[in-house]
Amino acid sequence: MSMSKQKPELDLYMISPRGFCAGVERAIQIVEQSLVKWGPPVYVRHEIVHNKFVVDTLRNKGVVFVKSLDECPDDRPVILSAHGVARSVIKKAQNRDMNFMDAICPLVSKVHVEILKNHREGLQNVMIGHAGHPETLGTLGQLSLGEIFLVETVEDVENLTPDDPDKIAYVTQTTLSIDDITPIIKALKNKFPNIKEPHKSDICYATTNRQEAVKKAAPFIEGLFVIGSPNSSNSKRLVEVGRNAGCSFSMLISGPEEMNLSLIRKFKTIGLTSGASAPEILVERCQEFLQKHFHIKFVSLETIKENVTFNLPKELRV
Ligand code: SF4
Repeated sequence: MSMSKQKPELDLYMISPRGFCAGVERAIQIVEQSLVKWGPPVYVRHEIVHNKFVVDTLRNKGVVFVKSLDECPDDRPVILSAHGVARSVIKKAQNRDMNFMDAICPLVSKVHVEILKNHREGLQNVMIGHAGHPETLGTLGQLSLGEIFLVETVEDVENLTPDDPDKIAYVTQTTLSIDDITPIIKALKNKFPNIKEPHKSDICYATTNRQEAVKKAAPFIEGLFVIGSPNSSNSKRLVEVGRNAGCSFSMLISGPEEMNLSLIRKFKTIGLTSGASAPEILVERCQEFLQKHFHIKFVSLETIKENVTFNLPKELRV
């Protein structure tokens, strides 16, 4: 009997869209091109994107990751992460006359523009987001304290006391789950019937598409593995979306080393996807790992083709 015949059978749903979004691609290219143009070391404030593999790879090429601009010398290039930063951080870099590049995703910038416009119109802003996440800190940091409020739950909405209940607007973090924010938006609209909404959802195309694909796959699979780092907001949401859509075993993994074989042997069908900051090579490694232990039947489940790209800053275009 050949080895392959001894392997248990497993249907593997390859769920897409998955993996890198246009904002992550752009941020990584900004770092790569900066290394080419200026040579190492290049400094990056915060993890450029929330993925350990990406960060380790860049570190090996000469990138120094720091928490604050205070750790950067004045004479080396500094890149600000895809999540966006508070205005105070930009000001600090300008005051020090640093060679800095903002790798903020244009779809996060769009939210910043929105809240500043609301502010100019005399509205107080409410942001639906997760406290402490760098995108939230960056978005809240576009305005002063008291001009923007963070809400994470329906209870937070109940406790909200703006100066004028008719003069408020809301925005959201880009990587939330559509299903999670629906009750919060409903509570906001109930309490503040005149609240101004974003023209188009602030949840970005990549988050939306990856969640939709997982929702489609969930009824067909017994286990879902989402490749992503534990601090990746959109990856964590994919795990929750899978669970809520009917795949009770839904798990976030950093790579194949976290795939539990004895557990997978209990399944006939599993699904594999990855968050917007996880590189495809990690998906390939998980596939290879599974192929070593199972006789795999691949099923491709693709809900939409993505063709979004963002330009690099002028000084880095080749
Ligand atoms: S997940 Fe969305 S908002 Fe975040 S970097 Fe990607 S495209 Fe931009």
